[in-house]
This record gives sequence, structure tokens and C-alpha cells, in this order.
Amino acid sequence: MSQKLKSEIARRRTFGIISHPDAGKTTLTEKLLLFGGAINLAGAVKARKAARHATSDWMKMEQERGISVTTSVMKFNYRDYEVNLLDTPGHQDFSEDTYRVLTAVDSALMVIDSAKGVETQTEKLMAICRMRNTPVITFINKLDREGMSPLDLMADIEEKLQIECAPLAWPIGMGKRFKGVYNLYRRQLNLFTPGQETRNQDILTIESLDDPRLDELLGSQADELREDIELLEGAANPFCLEDFLKAHQTPVFFGSAINNFGVRELLDAFVELAPPPGPRMTETREVRPDEEQFSGFVFKIQANMDPMHRDRIAFLRICSGRFQRGMKVRHHRIGKEIGLNNAIIFMAQDRSNVEEAWPGDIIGLHNHGTIKIGDTFTSKEPLRFTGIPSFAPEHFRRVRLKNPLKVKQLDKGLTQLAEEGAVQVFRPLIGSDWILGAVGVLQFDVTMERLKNEYGVEAVYEGIDFAAARWVDCDDRKKLEEFERKNQANLARDAEGNLTYLASSEWRLGYVQEQWPEIVFHKTKEHC
Ligand code: GDP
Repeated sequence: MSQKLKSEIARRRTFGIISHPDAGKTTLTEKLLLFGGAINLAGAVKARKAARHATSDWMKMEQERGISVTTSVMKFNYRDYEVNLLDTPGHQDFSEDTYRVLTAVDSALMVIDSAKGVETQTEKLMAICRMRNTPVITFINKLDREGMSPLDLMADIEEKLQIECAPLAWPIGMGKRFKGVYNLYRRQLNLFTPGQETRNQDILTIESLDDPRLDELLGSQADELREDIELLEGAANPFCLEDFLKAHQTPVFFGSAINNFGVRELLDAFVELAPPPGPRMTETREVRPDEEQFSGFVFKIQANMDPMHRDRIAFLRICSGRFQRGMKVRHHRIGKEIGLNNAIIFMAQDRSNVEEAWPGDIIGLHNHGTIKIGDTFTSKEPLRFTGIPSFAPEHFRRVRLKNPLKVKQLDKGLTQLAEEGAVQVFRPLIGSDWILGAVGVLQFDVTMERLKNEYGVEAVYEGIDFAAARWVDCDDRKKLEEFERKNQANLARDAEGNLTYLASSEWRLGYVQEQWPEIVFHKTKEHC
């Protein structure tokens, strides 16, 4: 068993794909799935998105605004590897969701538009990867269009993202003059045929750049390539696997996702270089993936995966041991044993019951209200994986029901949406209204739509004079009670009952913090 476990771990790659909207993440995802044989037709990922959109109003919102709200998990095989690809919402208003997805990956693939360079959302997502020391591979996309020069692009990445770039491929021209990519790693020339969406490209192995075939194929651009490579050999950072794994360096690839160009090189390098599942921290100890005991944690809950069923799926990342269908695990937060009979695994276009799964795999569990983000399941030992935070909300709304008889539905809806992490909910110490908190305002629109569609609740929002929130605690109970007494109008309890201070401005928050030095104000909260 332990040998089997080790070999299954070694061939797994679990990664998230990150980018600023419009850089080509969806297109690249689709091409990766195409290579993995998970889909047969280009357009399938978009079609799937469209099919989902058509079925519910809030998904329509996603479509209308051209943003991606939800996160998808897709599994495919490539060569001897089992790849788990986790898509992340591109829009910054859903960054909390993205953050949690990135807690479940071992590496990330960053897509950059060659005409735009590093954009705001790329910066934010990279900050998350840096915090967690997640190794990142970079794909610079849209080389078939005029863009910034490759050297400028790398300088931009190094400066804005504070990570060293090591090119593993080099583009030959761009836009109309784009001829292909020279693979620096394998010393192969890969020529581009515009408009041809093919999987088998002309790959030519060129041992020496002096080879006259280069001139035949590239004309005057052959010398440009020679000069570039000479320059790179002196100026660019050589690729260093160790630095990449420590997240100090990112290997850089160039290509055009829509033309399926440079994607295979990227995927080949990715499976070879990206790390297999590694150890993970819990509150008590580090858990190695090759431990026989099964363990995993829930990083995401998603509703409406399948419009035919009103279901909610909890996504669990396996951290150690083997998953087997029907196995019993401890659900430590509620102190119960549960049977995992109907866990599912997500392929690109469908889902199927999973018989067996290994560390790095993501399985979906049907959630009937007992599973929350951050929950840990193990075969026996009480563990709790750490590092899955909530962020203090920056936007607030008070909820008012249109029909007061729907109070129960509203309570149920908001409680469930909070468990999914779609929005945060607070109950003020004074009064009975719900206050919603969000990191991005679009979360409110999604919440409203979902309350209506899924819970039959028509509600309206009212503005509320809060602009910052902090979870508060204090070792001295008396002091905390005094703080509570004197600040009732600004205090609320979140879905888990944690005391939260709501301030009308950052300035006001700073002032209160100064007045109450014994009280600790937390900007993030671990799920519990
Ligand atoms: P996402 O928002 O990052 O998921 O981006 P999409 O994959 O939806 O792509 C955004 C737009 O860029 C779409 O119109 C794509 O057709 C286009 N696009 C994607 N890859 C390329 C490429 O390699 N070259 C060009 N010219 N356009 C591309």
C-alpha cells in the first residue's frame, strides 16, 4: 500500500490557473483539457459555461457582466500524470473565493496578456501565491498580436510581482511577424502556422543556432533570434528548479492559447517541473501526504453545480492517505463519523462517482448543511488543517425583507450562503436585522439573486454606515465585557458567534483601537 501511495502521489499535479480577466485563462484551460483528452472539441468549456448560464438568473449575471463567479475543478490525465486543474474567479470581488481555492493547490499557472503585461488582478493573485510560497509558472499569451517586447514583459513581472523570471521558451517575433517559439530547455524550434488549430505542430530539433535551416525557415528573423539568445545567455536568469519550488523564480513560456501554440510545451514542462502534493500544516502537526491515514479539508462549497439538482457540493482536497468509496471518516467539528458513499470527481464535462482517490485529488461531497469551509475529515486522529482564512469585509449592507413572513427562509438562506463563503453575515447586538459583509460588492448582487431563486426570498438592501470590520477578542474577560458594554451599537456576532467590531471608517477603527489597547482586533479569521 505505501508503495502504491507514494507512486500515486508522485504522479499527481494539482494547480490553480490565475490571471486578470481577459488574459486568456478560459481559452488556455480549454486547450489544456484538449491535450489531456478530457474534452474533444474546442469550445466545450465555454459551451459548458453557457449551458450553466442559461439555467439560472444569477449565472446569467455572470454572463452579462462577462465575469466568472464560480470556481471549477477539472481532472485530466496527461502522459503518466494525473492533473487536477482548479479554475479561479477572475473578478476581484470574488478574491476571497480565489484565496481559498489557492489553499488547495500545490502550484499555480499565471496567464499574462502580452499586450498588457502585469495587470491589477494578477498582482493581487500573485500576492496570495507569495504569501503561501506557491510555485508559479508563467504563460505569456496572445503572441499572435502586437504586444510588449519579451524583455519588457519579463522586467514588468520582476518589478511588479517581485519574482525572478527564467525564460524556458523564447518567441520569434510577434504579431504578424510571429514565427514560433524556440524552446530553450530542449533546444527545439517550434514553428507557428497562423489560423491552424492543431495539436501536432512542426517541431524541429536544432542542436546549434548556427544551423543553416534556421535561415531557411526564418529568413532575417534567424539572426534576430541568434542575437536574442546570445543576449539572454548573458542577461537572463538560468532556470533553477530549487528557486522555482521555493517560489523565488518563475519559469516563463510564450505562446498563443487561441491558436493552441506553445501550450503543449507549457504542459510538458508543467508536469515535469511542478511539485507533487506536499506536506500540510494542521493545528497540531505537519501531515505528510504519504501517511496511511486519510485526511483532507474543505476549501469550497458550491451551489447549483448541476441545475437539474438543487445541490450543494463541498470540495475536499485530500492531504494524505487513500480515499475509498464508502469509507468512514471523522467529521471533527461536529464530532461524528460519516460515510463517504457518494463522493464525486469532476472531469471537464461530467462528474462521476469516485471509487478511489489520492493526495492532491479534489473530491466533491454532497452537503446537506453539515459541512462548512475549513472542515477537516480524517480516518481517526483529530486534526484541523490551518491557513483557510476569512477576510474582514470592507462593504456592508442591511437586509430588509419585502415580505416579513419570510423570516425563516431568509435566515436559512443567509446561513447557508455564509457557510458557502458567498457572503459574510452578522447579527448586531442591538436590533434583529441581518447585516451582510463582503470583500467585493458584486457578492451582494449574487446573494440577492440567489436568495430570490433558491430560497424564494425577496429582500432589499439598505446602505449602512459601516466601512470596516474586525474580529475582536481579549484574554481578560472583564475587559472584553466592558468593551462589549460600551460599544454595543458597533458590535455584532458573525455566523459562528464571533464578536465583531463594525466601524464607520478606518479612522474611527484606529481611534477605537488606540482607546482599547488590551483588545485584539483581527483582520482575518481562520475558519472554525
Ligand atoms: P479569460 O477572461 O482570462 O478567461 O479570457 P478568455 O479565455 O475568455 O479570453 C479573452 C479573449 O481573448 C477572448 O476573446 C479570446 O478569444 C481572446 N484570446 C485568448 N487567447 C488568445 C490568443 O492567443 N490570441 C488572441 N489574439 N486572442 C486570444
